Amino acid sequence: MDNIQVFLRIRPFSDDERARERDQSCAVRRVSETSVQLPGQKSETFTFDHVGDTDCPQEAVFESVGRRVVSRCLEGYNGTIFAYGQTGSGKTYTMQGPAGLFGGQDDPHRGLIPRCFEYLFDLIAEKEMESNGKVQYLCKASYMEIYNENIYDLLDSTTRVCPLREDIKKGVFVDGITEETVADPLEAYDVFRRGANNRHVSATAMNRESSRSHSVLMLVIQSLTSVDTGLTEIRESRFNLVDLAGSERQKMANTTGIRLKEAANINKSLSALGKVINALVEVGAGKNRHVHYRDSKLTFLLRDSLGGNSITCIIANTSPAVSNEIETLSTLRFAQRAK
Ligand code: ADP
Ligand code: MG
Repeated sequence: MDNIQVFLRIRPFSDDERARERDQSCAVRRVSETSVQLPGQKSETFTFDHVGDTDCPQEAVFESVGRRVVSRCLEGYNGTIFAYGQTGSGKTYTMQGPAGLFGGQDDPHRGLIPRCFEYLFDLIAEKEMESNGKVQYLCKASYMEIYNENIYDLLDSTTRVCPLREDIKKGVFVDGITEETVADPLEAYDVFRRGANNRHVSATAMNRESSRSHSVLMLVIQSLTSVDTGLTEIRESRFNLVDLAGSERQKMANTTGIRLKEAANINKSLSALGKVINALVEVGAGKNRHVHYRDSKLTFLLRDSLGGNSITCIIANTSPAVSNEIETLSTLRFAQRAK
Protein backbone atom coordinates (compact mmCIF):
# COMPACT_ATOMS: atom_id res chain seq x y z
CA MET A 1 0.00 0.00 0.00
CA ASP A 2 1.17 3.47 -0.84
CA ASN A 3 0.62 5.07 2.56
CA ILE A 4 2.76 2.51 4.36
CA GLN A 5 6.33 2.12 3.25
CA VAL A 6 8.98 -0.24 4.50
CA PHE A 7 12.69 0.38 4.19
CA LEU A 8 15.03 -2.44 5.17
CA ARG A 9 18.44 -1.31 6.35
CA ILE A 10 21.31 -3.70 6.98
CA ARG A 11 24.02 -2.08 9.04
CA PRO A 12 27.72 -2.78 8.41
CA PHE A 13 29.69 -5.24 10.55
CA SER A 14 31.00 -3.70 13.74
CA ASP A 15 34.67 -4.16 14.69
CA ASP A 16 33.50 -6.49 17.40
CA GLU A 17 31.62 -8.68 14.97
CA ARG A 18 34.56 -8.65 12.57
CA ALA A 19 36.73 -9.99 15.35
CA ARG A 20 34.22 -12.50 16.69
CA GLU A 21 32.18 -13.88 13.82
CA ARG A 22 33.39 -17.02 12.10
CA ASP A 23 31.20 -16.38 9.09
CA GLN A 24 31.91 -12.88 7.80
CA SER A 25 29.44 -12.94 4.94
CA CYS A 26 26.36 -10.80 5.35
CA ALA A 27 23.46 -12.86 6.63
CA VAL A 28 20.93 -10.81 4.72
CA ARG A 29 21.43 -11.53 1.03
CA ARG A 30 20.01 -9.31 -1.59
CA VAL A 31 18.26 -11.21 -4.34
CA SER A 32 16.89 -8.20 -6.19
CA GLU A 33 16.75 -4.43 -5.87
CA THR A 34 14.02 -4.68 -3.24
CA SER A 35 14.17 -8.21 -1.85
CA VAL A 36 16.38 -10.32 0.38
CA GLN A 37 16.80 -13.88 1.68
CA LEU A 38 18.47 -15.40 4.70
CA PRO A 39 20.86 -18.30 4.08
CA GLY A 40 19.00 -20.51 6.55
CA GLN A 41 15.60 -19.63 5.01
CA LYS A 42 16.21 -19.89 1.31
CA SER A 43 12.64 -20.75 0.52
CA GLU A 44 11.47 -17.39 1.85
CA THR A 45 11.98 -14.13 -0.02
CA PHE A 46 11.22 -10.87 1.78
CA THR A 47 10.24 -7.88 -0.31
CA PHE A 48 10.20 -4.22 0.73
CA ASP A 49 9.93 -0.81 -0.87
CA HIS A 50 13.66 -0.21 -0.51
CA VAL A 51 16.60 -2.23 0.69
CA GLY A 52 19.63 -0.37 2.01
CA ASP A 53 22.70 -2.59 2.00
CA THR A 54 25.56 -2.38 4.49
CA ASP A 55 27.05 0.52 2.54
CA CYS A 56 23.81 2.52 2.41
CA PRO A 57 24.61 6.14 3.35
CA GLN A 58 22.46 8.22 5.69
CA GLU A 59 21.63 10.53 2.83
CA ALA A 60 20.01 7.69 0.87
CA VAL A 61 17.72 6.89 3.80
CA PHE A 62 16.65 10.51 3.95
CA GLU A 63 16.10 10.66 0.19
CA SER A 64 13.80 7.66 0.11
CA VAL A 65 12.06 8.10 3.45
CA GLY A 66 12.47 11.52 5.03
CA ARG A 67 11.91 13.76 2.06
CA ARG A 68 8.60 12.16 1.16
CA VAL A 69 7.19 12.16 4.70
CA VAL A 70 8.20 15.77 5.40
CA SER A 71 6.68 17.09 2.20
CA ARG A 72 3.44 15.23 2.89
CA CYS A 73 3.33 16.77 6.38
CA LEU A 74 3.57 20.23 4.85
CA GLU A 75 0.64 19.39 2.61
CA GLY A 76 -1.40 18.94 5.79
CA TYR A 77 -1.19 15.19 6.31
CA ASN A 78 0.21 13.36 9.32
CA GLY A 79 3.41 11.41 8.98
CA THR A 80 5.25 8.90 11.13
CA ILE A 81 8.64 7.27 10.79
CA PHE A 82 9.43 4.24 12.96
CA ALA A 83 12.82 2.67 13.51
CA TYR A 84 12.31 -1.01 14.29
CA GLY A 85 14.85 -3.74 15.09
CA GLN A 86 16.75 -5.58 17.78
CA THR A 87 19.02 -3.67 20.14
CA GLY A 88 22.27 -2.85 18.34
CA SER A 89 20.74 -3.08 14.85
CA GLY A 90 21.15 0.64 14.09
CA LYS A 91 17.83 2.26 15.01
CA THR A 92 19.36 5.22 16.83
CA TYR A 93 22.09 5.55 14.22
CA THR A 94 19.44 5.75 11.53
CA MET A 95 17.32 8.31 13.37
CA GLN A 96 20.00 10.44 15.02
CA GLY A 97 23.39 9.44 13.72
CA PRO A 98 26.44 8.10 15.56
CA ALA A 99 26.28 8.31 19.37
CA GLY A 100 27.02 11.82 20.59
CA LEU A 101 26.53 13.46 17.20
CA PHE A 102 23.74 15.99 17.36
CA GLY A 103 23.00 18.00 14.28
CA GLY A 104 25.99 19.30 12.38
CA GLN A 105 24.55 20.28 9.03
CA ASP A 106 27.68 19.29 7.15
CA ASP A 107 28.24 15.97 8.84
CA PRO A 108 27.53 13.19 6.33
CA HIS A 109 26.82 10.77 9.22
CA ARG A 110 24.00 12.77 10.73
CA GLY A 111 20.76 10.83 10.78
CA LEU A 112 17.21 11.27 9.62
CA ILE A 113 16.05 13.58 12.39
CA PRO A 114 18.46 16.44 11.67
CA ARG A 115 17.99 15.99 7.92
CA CYS A 116 14.20 16.08 8.25
CA PHE A 117 14.43 19.26 10.35
CA GLU A 118 16.66 20.94 7.78
CA TYR A 119 14.33 20.04 4.93
CA LEU A 120 11.20 20.93 6.90
CA PHE A 121 12.34 24.48 7.60
CA ASP A 122 13.65 24.91 4.06
CA LEU A 123 10.25 23.96 2.72
CA ILE A 124 8.49 26.22 5.20
CA ALA A 125 10.61 29.19 4.12
CA GLU A 126 9.89 28.39 0.49
CA LYS A 127 6.13 28.09 1.02
CA GLU A 128 5.93 31.24 3.10
CA MET A 129 7.78 33.17 0.44
CA GLU A 130 5.66 31.83 -2.40
CA SER A 131 2.51 32.89 -0.53
CA ASN A 132 3.64 36.52 -0.24
CA GLY A 133 3.03 36.61 3.48
CA LYS A 134 -0.39 34.98 3.30
CA VAL A 135 0.69 31.69 4.83
CA GLN A 136 2.68 31.31 7.99
CA TYR A 137 3.82 28.17 9.70
CA LEU A 138 4.18 27.46 13.38
CA CYS A 139 5.94 24.35 14.68
CA LYS A 140 5.80 22.96 18.18
CA ALA A 141 7.97 20.11 19.36
CA SER A 142 7.54 17.66 22.19
CA TYR A 143 9.60 14.65 23.08
CA MET A 144 8.44 11.73 25.17
CA GLU A 145 9.29 8.25 26.22
CA ILE A 146 6.95 5.30 26.67
CA TYR A 147 8.27 2.96 29.30
CA ASN A 148 6.23 0.20 30.91
CA GLU A 149 3.09 1.61 29.31
CA ASN A 150 3.64 4.99 30.95
CA ILE A 151 4.38 8.21 29.08
CA TYR A 152 7.16 10.46 30.41
CA ASP A 153 7.92 13.96 29.24
CA LEU A 154 11.57 14.06 28.17
CA LEU A 155 11.63 17.86 28.24
CA ASP A 156 10.71 17.87 31.90
CA SER A 157 13.37 16.42 34.16
CA THR A 158 10.84 15.29 36.75
CA THR A 159 9.65 11.74 36.24
CA ARG A 160 5.97 12.55 36.25
CA VAL A 161 3.73 10.21 34.26
CA CYS A 162 1.66 12.07 31.66
CA PRO A 163 -1.83 10.78 31.02
CA LEU A 164 -3.09 10.13 27.52
CA ARG A 165 -6.47 11.74 26.87
CA GLU A 166 -8.96 11.98 24.11
CA ASP A 167 -10.93 15.03 23.09
CA ILE A 168 -13.44 15.49 20.29
CA LYS A 169 -11.59 18.51 18.92
CA LYS A 170 -7.99 17.68 19.73
CA GLY A 171 -8.14 13.93 19.17
CA VAL A 172 -5.67 11.92 21.26
CA PHE A 173 -3.21 14.05 23.20
CA VAL A 174 -0.75 13.80 26.08
CA ASP A 175 -2.03 15.89 28.93
CA GLY A 176 0.53 18.29 30.38
CA ILE A 177 3.35 17.49 27.96
CA THR A 178 5.87 20.28 27.33
CA GLU A 179 5.53 21.81 23.88
CA GLU A 180 8.22 24.15 22.60
CA THR A 181 7.88 26.42 19.64
CA VAL A 182 10.73 25.83 17.22
CA ALA A 183 11.56 28.19 14.39
CA ASP A 184 14.56 26.61 12.72
CA PRO A 185 16.43 23.28 12.52
CA LEU A 186 18.81 24.23 15.31
CA GLU A 187 16.02 25.00 17.76
CA ALA A 188 14.24 21.78 16.83
CA TYR A 189 17.43 19.85 17.21
CA ASP A 190 18.08 21.42 20.57
CA VAL A 191 14.77 20.00 21.82
CA PHE A 192 15.84 16.59 20.63
CA ARG A 193 19.28 16.88 22.22
CA ARG A 194 17.92 18.00 25.60
CA GLY A 195 15.33 15.24 25.62
CA ALA A 196 17.87 12.59 24.69
CA ASN A 197 20.08 13.85 27.48
CA ASN A 198 17.28 13.69 30.04
CA ARG A 199 16.41 10.23 28.82
CA HIS A 200 19.94 9.08 29.41
CA VAL A 201 20.17 10.66 32.87
CA SER A 202 16.87 9.26 34.11
CA ALA A 203 17.58 5.81 32.65
CA THR A 204 20.87 5.70 34.54
CA ALA A 205 19.25 6.91 37.76
CA MET A 206 16.54 4.29 37.48
CA ASN A 207 18.96 1.58 36.43
CA ARG A 208 17.37 0.69 33.15
CA GLU A 209 18.33 0.73 29.52
CA SER A 210 16.86 3.00 26.91
CA SER A 211 16.53 -0.03 24.65
CA ARG A 212 13.51 -0.96 26.75
CA SER A 213 11.46 2.11 25.99
CA HIS A 214 10.09 3.81 22.90
CA SER A 215 10.97 7.43 22.26
CA VAL A 216 8.61 9.65 20.32
CA LEU A 217 9.59 13.04 18.96
CA MET A 218 6.45 14.82 17.89
CA LEU A 219 6.21 17.96 15.79
CA VAL A 220 2.91 19.73 15.44
CA ILE A 221 2.97 21.80 12.28
CA GLN A 222 0.34 24.51 11.94
CA SER A 223 -0.24 26.51 8.82
CA LEU A 224 -2.01 29.82 9.27
CA THR A 225 -3.52 31.17 6.09
CA SER A 226 -5.13 34.60 5.96
CA VAL A 227 -8.21 34.47 3.81
CA ASP A 228 -10.01 37.39 2.17
CA THR A 229 -12.54 37.90 4.93
CA GLY A 230 -9.71 38.81 7.29
CA LEU A 231 -9.99 35.48 9.02
CA THR A 232 -7.21 32.99 9.51
CA GLU A 233 -7.54 29.40 8.44
CA ILE A 234 -5.56 26.99 10.58
CA ARG A 235 -4.50 23.59 9.37
CA GLU A 236 -2.57 21.20 11.55
CA SER A 237 -0.50 18.13 10.90
CA ARG A 238 1.75 15.95 13.00
CA PHE A 239 5.12 14.53 12.25
CA ASN A 240 6.31 11.74 14.55
CA LEU A 241 9.77 10.26 14.70
CA VAL A 242 9.82 7.07 16.73
CA ASP A 243 12.83 5.10 17.95
CA LEU A 244 11.23 1.85 19.14
CA ALA A 245 12.28 -0.40 22.00
CA GLY A 246 14.55 -3.27 20.98
CA SER A 247 12.50 -5.97 19.25
CA GLU A 248 14.60 -8.91 20.53
CA ARG A 249 12.63 -11.71 22.08
CA GLN A 250 12.25 -10.82 25.73
CA LYS A 251 13.33 -13.48 28.16
CA MET A 252 10.36 -14.16 30.38
CA ALA A 253 11.75 -17.28 32.06
CA ASN A 254 13.44 -16.72 35.43
CA THR A 255 12.44 -13.07 35.29
CA THR A 256 10.35 -11.51 38.02
CA GLY A 257 9.07 -8.16 39.23
CA ILE A 258 9.75 -5.03 37.24
CA ARG A 259 11.86 -6.80 34.60
CA LEU A 260 9.06 -9.23 33.88
CA LYS A 261 6.57 -6.40 33.57
CA GLU A 262 9.00 -4.51 31.34
CA ALA A 263 9.48 -7.53 29.08
CA ALA A 264 5.75 -8.18 28.87
CA ASN A 265 5.05 -4.55 28.02
CA ILE A 266 7.63 -4.42 25.22
CA ASN A 267 6.18 -7.55 23.68
CA LYS A 268 2.70 -6.17 24.07
CA SER A 269 3.32 -2.79 22.49
CA LEU A 270 5.40 -4.04 19.57
CA SER A 271 2.86 -6.71 18.78
CA ALA A 272 0.04 -4.16 19.09
CA LEU A 273 1.92 -1.96 16.60
CA GLY A 274 2.34 -4.92 14.24
CA LYS A 275 -1.36 -5.69 14.44
CA VAL A 276 -2.41 -2.09 13.85
CA ILE A 277 -0.17 -1.80 10.80
CA ASN A 278 -1.42 -5.13 9.53
CA ALA A 279 -5.01 -4.07 9.91
CA LEU A 280 -4.28 -0.76 8.16
CA VAL A 281 -2.72 -2.61 5.23
CA GLU A 282 -5.90 -4.67 4.94
CA VAL A 283 -8.13 -1.62 5.25
CA GLY A 284 -6.04 -0.02 2.49
CA ALA A 285 -6.66 -3.10 0.37
CA GLY A 286 -10.41 -2.53 0.76
CA LYS A 287 -11.15 -4.90 3.63
CA ASN A 288 -13.40 -4.00 6.49
CA ARG A 289 -11.23 -4.37 9.57
CA HIS A 290 -11.37 -3.00 13.06
CA VAL A 291 -8.07 -1.36 14.03
CA HIS A 292 -7.18 -1.93 17.69
CA TYR A 293 -5.41 1.30 18.52
CA ARG A 294 -6.24 1.01 22.20
CA ASP A 295 -4.20 -2.14 22.74
CA SER A 296 -1.07 -0.19 23.68
CA LYS A 297 -0.06 3.34 24.70
CA LEU A 298 2.08 3.68 21.59
CA THR A 299 -0.66 2.85 19.10
CA PHE A 300 -3.24 4.93 20.96
CA LEU A 301 -0.87 7.91 21.17
CA LEU A 302 -0.33 7.70 17.41
CA ARG A 303 -3.92 6.83 16.52
CA ASP A 304 -4.62 10.04 14.63
CA SER A 305 -1.34 9.78 12.74
CA LEU A 306 -1.73 6.20 11.55
CA GLY A 307 -4.27 5.31 8.90
CA GLY A 308 -6.50 7.56 6.84
CA ASN A 309 -4.47 9.88 4.65
CA SER A 310 -1.43 9.64 6.89
CA ILE A 311 1.88 8.42 5.65
CA THR A 312 3.79 5.84 7.67
CA CYS A 313 7.26 4.58 7.13
CA ILE A 314 8.91 1.71 8.93
CA ILE A 315 12.65 1.42 8.78
CA ALA A 316 13.48 -2.15 9.71
CA ASN A 317 17.06 -2.34 10.92
CA THR A 318 19.08 -5.54 10.98
CA SER A 319 22.54 -6.71 11.88
CA PRO A 320 24.57 -8.37 9.10
CA ALA A 321 25.91 -11.07 11.45
CA VAL A 322 24.92 -14.70 10.99
CA SER A 323 24.83 -15.06 14.78
CA ASN A 324 21.84 -12.67 14.83
CA GLU A 325 19.92 -14.58 12.20
CA ILE A 326 17.00 -15.53 14.45
CA GLU A 327 16.31 -11.93 15.46
CA THR A 328 16.90 -10.76 11.89
CA LEU A 329 14.34 -13.28 10.68
CA SER A 330 11.80 -11.96 13.14
CA THR A 331 12.49 -8.36 12.02
CA LEU A 332 12.07 -9.33 8.35
CA ARG A 333 8.79 -11.05 9.17
CA PHE A 334 7.50 -8.04 11.10
CA ALA A 335 8.43 -5.69 8.28
CA GLN A 336 7.11 -7.96 5.56
CA ARG A 337 3.71 -8.05 7.23
CA ALA A 338 3.44 -4.30 6.78
CA LYS A 339 3.50 -4.73 3.00
P1 ADP B 1 20.11 0.49 18.29
O1 ADP B 1 19.67 1.90 18.47
O2 ADP B 1 19.25 -0.29 17.34
O3 ADP B 1 20.31 -0.25 19.58
P2 ADP B 1 22.58 1.71 17.40
O4 ADP B 1 22.03 2.71 16.47
O5 ADP B 1 22.99 2.20 18.74
O6 ADP B 1 21.56 0.49 17.58
O7 ADP B 1 23.77 0.98 16.65
C1 ADP B 1 24.67 0.08 17.29
C2 ADP B 1 26.10 0.44 16.89
O8 ADP B 1 26.29 0.26 15.49
C3 ADP B 1 26.44 1.88 17.17
O9 ADP B 1 27.78 1.95 17.60
C4 ADP B 1 26.27 2.56 15.83
O10 ADP B 1 27.06 3.72 15.72
C5 ADP B 1 26.69 1.47 14.86
N1 ADP B 1 25.95 1.57 13.59
C6 ADP B 1 24.64 1.28 13.42
N2 ADP B 1 24.25 1.45 12.15
C7 ADP B 1 25.35 1.88 11.49
C8 ADP B 1 25.61 2.24 10.11
N3 ADP B 1 24.65 2.18 9.18
N4 ADP B 1 26.86 2.64 9.80
C9 ADP B 1 27.83 2.69 10.73
N5 ADP B 1 27.65 2.36 12.04
C10 ADP B 1 26.44 1.96 12.42
MG1 MG C 1 19.13 2.85 20.25
